[in-house]
Amino acid sequence: MGLGSDFLRRLKPPFVGRSAYIVLLLTDALAQAFVAVGEEDLSRIVAALLTVALAGCQTTARSSWDSLSPPTGRTEALAGARAAPAVEAQFGGVVSNGAAESRMLRIGRRITRSVPELRGPYRYLVLDSDRVDAVSLPGGRIYVTRALYERLSRDDLLAAALAHEMAHLQAKDHFKPRPASPHGALDKELSADRFAARWLDAAGFPSEAMTDLNRLVADAQPAGWARVRIAHLTRPSMPADNQVNHDPNG
Ligand SMILES: [Zn+2]
Repeated sequence: MGLGSDFLRRLKPPFVGRSAYIVLLLTDALAQAFVAVGEEDLSRIVAALLTVALAGCQTTARSSWDSLSPPTGRTEALAGARAAPAVEAQFGGVVSNGAAESRMLRIGRRITRSVPELRGPYRYLVLDSDRVDAVSLPGGRIYVTRALYERLSRDDLLAAALAHEMAHLQAKDHFKPRPASPHGALDKELSADRFAARWLDAAGFPSEAMTDLNRLVADAQPAGWARVRIAHLTRPSMPADNQVNHDPNG
């Protein structure tokens, strides 16, 4: 999914420097051309753009995103807070659903209490969108769309969605340069899936819930990557993802 022109209009100069805006436009064009759409593709793009925008506010002439220093907690919170209105608008706004928020808080706490390395705080919200999706923003906002939430009557599936987004946040994926290829972007999804499965297990949820969630997403969004991710989650583990070690009979 590429970003709409509304979003780019909000970011145009003087909010960001001219050169950054050109980068934004180019990135958006690339995003539009990007075939496969991961669950939080939008959030990753938005946050990547905002990383540039923030840098533009602080300095001039950043020549490479790679030169950005790792974000601090404060940087993450600022980037997330700045991105939130546009992201929420892209998904039809936040639905006021106290029951859903309480349920996500309860399930999220069960995960975070079982996984000491997870950094919070997290805030859980429902977006008023028919798209089956989950999105996160730096600083700990985790959004589940209404269409996805309505399909997640099982706590373990909701836990899988939250854990996957927590994995993106933990890895600071939002601040990484946009992968040069779909393969690179898919690697981030697979990594988030695997961390989520591990954390589900630690919290006493069945780790297979991550696969089940991908099946659910694949049925609702056949054009996405969910089926590829299922194949990676369910095949026998290999020594390393990029190591070619296929069993010719397997
Ligand atoms: Zn993801």
